[in-house]
Amino acid sequence: MSAPRFGAIESGGTKFVCLVGSAPDRIEAEIRFPTGEPAPTLARAIAFFEERAAETGPLDAVGIASFGPLELRPGHAKFGHLSATPKPGWSGVDVAGPVAAALGVPVGIDTDVNGAALGEGRWGAAQGLDTYVYLTVGTGIGGGAVIGGKVVSGLVHTEMGHLTVPRIDGDAFPGSCPFHGDCWEGLAGGEAMAARWGTPAEELTGGALREALRLEAAYLAAGLRNIVYTTAPQRIVIGGGVAELPGLFSLLRAELSAALAGYPGLPEHAAEDFVVPARLGRLAGPAGGLVLAAEAATAARQRSRPGAGPSEGTYA
Ligand code: ZN
Repeated sequence: MSAPRFGAIESGGTKFVCLVGSAPDRIEAEIRFPTGEPAPTLARAIAFFEERAAETGPLDAVGIASFGPLELRPGHAKFGHLSATPKPGWSGVDVAGPVAAALGVPVGIDTDVNGAALGEGRWGAAQGLDTYVYLTVGTGIGGGAVIGGKVVSGLVHTEMGHLTVPRIDGDAFPGSCPFHGDCWEGLAGGEAMAARWGTPAEELTGGALREALRLEAAYLAAGLRNIVYTTAPQRIVIGGGVAELPGLFSLLRAELSAALAGYPGLPEHAAEDFVVPARLGRLAGPAGGLVLAAEAATAARQRSRPGAGPSEGTYA
């Protein structure tokens, strides 16, 4: 039997990345293009996969790691559709359906953050672990929890960026979240940092950078404390632009130790490999698409067995 070939889509608010392959180091074709109107954007992605299939053989499945919010309840009439999104024209758009209908292969879909979490688990910084959290700290903050090998998802996907964290003494910044003001993302996302300091975090230098890093590490640690205590991760993997600020991780580890205050006193929480940078970089989203495609293919195989019931999170 030949190795499976999957299609992966990272559908972002500003760009689409589509690729064909089986792993981040086994990618046979890739295209990127700006996210425009929904119909032509999805058509362009579909055309890419159709061309690849015509040229080099059929794909086994496609996985989509999409910006959200998404309807992901299995069996829901709007499964695979975007909910209300600030991205103009995209609210209510069916992202997965047209791809499944056009290509006739199983299609899996989850959020870009959950996709990245799965990608980091399969090929990146959380390999070998079955309970971990992936956090992206970019313009905003998003987190995906994998618990017992499965992404946590219920009524809706998790929205860790909107956790409440205590305001740090002396910080008068009101917060930038349009819904909550000073939630975690509103205080510690890249947009909040840029608004607080009057310049994007990656352009700060010297004393201003040191002060911004100190505050950022403290806010991130406050949110991570909630995550440590509620999801019991074996590791926390952090990606996104803010995570690339120099020196952030050592400050963050120290702040997290202080925030946990010796409870429950596990040496693992203080270890260097408990809070680590993401490893897949720009490929985290598409790698997530590959994992979602593989899961969709497996689910379709199980469904095709006699007596099998409906499975979760995929199209037939
Ligand atoms: Zn919020």
